[in-house]
Amino acid sequence: MKSAIVLGAGMAGVSSALALLDRGWSVVLVDRKAPGQETSYGNAGIIQAEAVEPYAMPRAIGDLFSIASGRTNDVLYSFRELPFHVSSLMRYWWHSAPVRHRAAGAAWATLIARATGTHAPLIERAGAGNLVRKGGFHMLLRSEASLAEAIGDAERKKSIYGTNFRTVTAAGMRQAEPALKQGGVGGIQWLDSWTVSDPGGLVAAYAALFERHGGRFLHGNAGTLRRAGAGWAADTGDGAVEAAHAVVTLGPWSTSTLRRFGHRFPMVHKRGYHAHYRAPQSLNAPVMDSDNGYLLLPMLAGTRITTGAHIARIGVPPAYLQLARAERAAADLFDIGSRIEDTPWQGTRPCMPDMLPVIGPSSREKGLWLNFGHGHQGFTLGPASAEALVAMMSGETPPVDTRPFRPDRY
Ligand SMILES: Cc1cc2nc3c(=O)[nH]c(=O)nc-3n(C[C@H](O)[C@H](O)[C@H](O)COP(=O)(O)OP(=O)(O)OC[C@H]3O[C@@H](n4cnc5c(N)ncnc54)[C@H](O)[C@@H]3O)c2cc1C
Repeated sequence: MKSAIVLGAGMAGVSSALALLDRGWSVVLVDRKAPGQETSYGNAGIIQAEAVEPYAMPRAIGDLFSIASGRTNDVLYSFRELPFHVSSLMRYWWHSAPVRHRAAGAAWATLIARATGTHAPLIERAGAGNLVRKGGFHMLLRSEASLAEAIGDAERKKSIYGTNFRTVTAAGMRQAEPALKQGGVGGIQWLDSWTVSDPGGLVAAYAALFERHGGRFLHGNAGTLRRAGAGWAADTGDGAVEAAHAVVTLGPWSTSTLRRFGHRFPMVHKRGYHAHYRAPQSLNAPVMDSDNGYLLLPMLAGTRITTGAHIARIGVPPAYLQLARAERAAADLFDIGSRIEDTPWQGTRPCMPDMLPVIGPSSREKGLWLNFGHGHQGFTLGPASAEALVAMMSGETPPVDTRPFRPDRY
């Protein structure tokens, strides 16, 4: 029987472990925490069928000025952190040029197109349908100019990728979401995306499905991964485990772990924050306040606000400026109520400079496989990228062209 140790039990790892198990592999899934407790817990929980293009770095002078002067809430740079990110950011900038972004988008869209279709059977088999809502979400705009720009962009995406949306008036926005105090100048409803009321809970439900079908989940440290003969070993709470193959699905921790094996992957660490609130009335579905760079999300734990990106290495102290701005902007849209937790959550979107995930065999070590770097959409892309990886590991033709995701491009 083919065997694998999957390191990291976020959406990417749990999906990979399940996909291997479904093909008859013997699989041990290892994480230092319970499944779905890190980035895959704290995100906005949207299975983003509308995210047909990866998130490019702004290149227009006006946008750059807004970032440099701290006027936008989408992204926060701190000067002290910049030296650690210059090289990855320069590569990100280069890849974000329109012609390269178009090429990345073409590859990315093949995975996004499979996102809801690959989640659907897992949701059903895991009995997690109660966590998932299939009605899309609203993007609310605050000015006529940004509304016109958003509609133009949505029409372009519909014509290229077939992404379904409808425009919504301010009154329509309030009708759909009666808890809103106002509907801005109107907005867009993305129709194909699914929203999850407990993202970590969905990952935990997939992990429980994995265990019910004979997979083993063990607590352990990925830092102990090592060669064992022709295969691999790692230490866990149940002792050392061995397998012929190892899969690294450690999200933002993947690059540091892989350095031990000679890999030097660059990564742009885009931190995000969230907090929960005791809103007296709940939203029906997420609302993105696009002009203010945050999302309002009805979660089981309360109304969640998630922020844009703070460029910061893992471990660097938090900066709550974006969350504070989001709270202020939200106040005239929605009664968020008081904060539930004292300390906001933080987590890191693992972004590759060319905006594409790394999926495939290590170029340095036989039997070592990689599946990380899904950036802003790893919760969406877990099952679709697992499907591609596992086909490669099984010697079959993947359902998408995996060449753009090859690890050896770095
Ligand atoms: C604020 C925010 C909002 C977002 N919203 C969305 C969204 O709406 N939709 C979407 O698709 N994506 C969203 N994302 C992105 C998404 O959350 C990530 O791309 C995705 O969760 C990455 O999943 P992963 O499995 O690769 O990593 P993770 O979920 O981080 O999993 C990695 C795992 O590795 C484990 N690990 C790390 N080091 C070790 C070690 N040494 N030993 C053992 N285990 C270890 C961790 O404990 C963790 O469980 C958002 C991200 C943020 C920050």
